[in-house]
Amino acid sequence: MINSDLQSLYQEVILDHNKRPRNFRVIDPASSMARGHNPLCGDQIQIYINMKDDIILDVSFQGQGCAISTASASLMTDAVKGKSIQAIKLIFDEFHQAVTQDNIDINLDKQQQILGRLMILTGVKKYPSRVKCATLAWHALQAAIVKQSEPVKTE
Ligand code: ZN
Repeated sequence: MINSDLQSLYQEVILDHNKRPRNFRVIDPASSMARGHNPLCGDQIQIYINMKDDIILDVSFQGQGCAISTASASLMTDAVKGKSIQAIKLIFDEFHQAVTQDNIDINLDKQQQILGRLMILTGVKKYPSRVKCATLAWHALQAAIVKQSEPVKTE
């Protein structure tokens, strides 16, 4: 995939998920919920999960934020639903590396479909301040999994 294609795909996916966020609702009752705040940008997010054993049966989010944080939360909820905590940790590790480190060779064709879509967000690497927008939902998800009551802050 050449760079300009990736760039326009990136914009298309972000715009679509920002306009029509997936799983944008409250789960009530939820097994757990956590709040995340990115003071740098002003993004606020709440993540709700329903867990059985170590499987995330359902996940949703609410909040207000920029297009990147909303799109990232939307993509994340799609990516982690039905997965085990361990599988989610692996996805997050790979995603986090991809948005924070250079020299990662990303081949969208070879990635599994879900991870492939998340990898669209590696476009934020060019804008370091947006990396926190892209990872906020993931940090809040981790807090929800461990039932942390303190809000998560990116700063
Ligand atoms: Zn933001």
